Amino acid sequence: MRRERGGRSQDLVVDPQSGWIRGVRRVESPNCDERPVGDAPELIVIHGISLPPHEFGGPWIDRLFTNTLPADAHPYFATIAERTVSSHVLIRRDGEVVQYVPFHRRAWHAGVSSYAGRTACNDFSIGIELEGADDIAYEEAQYTTAAQLIGELCRAYPTLSTRRIVGHADIAPGRKTDPGIAFDWPRLRALVAMQPGVAPGTGPGTANGAPT
Ligand SMILES: [Zn+2]
Repeated sequence: MRRERGGRSQDLVVDPQSGWIRGVRRVESPNCDERPVGDAPELIVIHGISLPPHEFGGPWIDRLFTNTLPADAHPYFATIAERTVSSHVLIRRDGEVVQYVPFHRRAWHAGVSSYAGRTACNDFSIGIELEGADDIAYEEAQYTTAAQLIGELCRAYPTLSTRRIVGHADIAPGRKTDPGIAFDWPRLRALVAMQPGVAPGTGPGTANGAPT
């Protein structure tokens, strides 16, 4: 299904039984495993990624998350090609959603991390990548799609909350900077608060560690 640019409502339906979003492109990543017994998705982590850095489009994020990134295709790739990483979802510049890992499984997106005193955030989080770079404005279609997906996820998984949405930099300070200074947290908060079923005033607050 092709996504409309700029604010059109999309049909992103999360099936909590299978852990997949219906109708979006699916690229299954082997870089995932079971969450620890007793851990459920409680935290949403927003990332920024581009491969090579600051270049958009191309197959390279899919390739990284499926362990098929050609190390010789770009000098930067040689530095990351051996990493076994993934995220649950990527939102491309035009708002297209790609899913790599079902939401009930543990994707390997956060690395060494800590949220509210709990370490190993992969255990209890969902990773959403936005194709972008720290210092380049993200696209309107990405905010719109991210907000709708967050609303759907919070409905599908009641352990999640719109109050627990952070950036990768917030849970791995000093090690990670994404989604970066260009990410408009107030814009995302406002759009999340507008989602059906998300009551006014329950959107993510400033206590979520968003960049100042
Ligand atoms: Zn990240």
